[in-house]
Amino acid sequence: MFTRVDDRLHDHPKFLKCSLSARGLWITALSWVGDKLTDGFVPHSCLGRLGARKRDADRLVEAGLWERGECDGEPGYWFHDFEDWNKAATHAEVRKRAGQNRSRVLKHRTRRSVVYKQRTPQPTVTGTTPADWSTPEDPRCRDHAKLPREHVPACRACGQARQWFTQQAMAEKQARHDAIASCEYCDDRGLATTQDTAGNDVLIRCSHNGPLPIIPAPEPVVHNPPPPEVRAWFDRQHSTRQPVVVHSASME
Ligand SMILES: [Zn+2]
Ligand SMILES: [Zn+2]
Repeated sequence: MFTRVDDRLHDHPKFLKCSLSARGLWITALSWVGDKLTDGFVPHSCLGRLGARKRDADRLVEAGLWERGECDGEPGYWFHDFEDWNKAATHAEVRKRAGQNRSRVLKHRTRRSVVYKQRTPQPTVTGTTPADWSTPEDPRCRDHAKLPREHVPACRACGQARQWFTQQAMAEKQARHDAIASCEYCDDRGLATTQDTAGNDVLIRCSHNGPLPIIPAPEPVVHNPPPPEVRAWFDRQHSTRQPVVVHSASME
């Protein structure tokens, strides 16, 4: 699967504001969220795995490329406007796949039978679905559920299982869209701005069931006090009241 990068990105004012390491994080994380299908969310706990530091993430937030938020209780960052271009990518992918399927089917069947096939109801499965023994990535009929991938023959029932997963995914997507459309709390990405217990704005994935929750604020960063001898030195410096002259030579 591909994620898209705007070919004017290199020149974008928001991008130019960022250090090269922050840009590196942006690109690396973009590939990561595309792979993990997180809808553009990067958990804070993943920064290390992506080879980045917190200050790179902070830089992206300051530049407006990321928004601080949380997802399923995990603090992190949302790609700004991720949905806008990702939708385009998804549509392109769907169109491409539809075209491939069509040409493959037409090779073997007349147009009339294609129409008939598309309207064929899904296989009747008694009380269970292909999801009980296979996955969308590797759909199987029940008979072929346990075979190693390379031993699965060309199989009509496996194809129907694939179709079932596709329809399931489309129905879920439609349901998500409907929920977002009828929810007064979130934007059209399904994201909503709430506050944490410290009063900061936090972007969250909306659950579309009423007022937004207040998120617990992150633990404040504790700075260890300096050791006593440093403290004493600092106090001595301070008490002499001599102005501290720094780089006086280089200022002239
Ligand atoms: Zn099969
Ligand atoms: Zn909502």
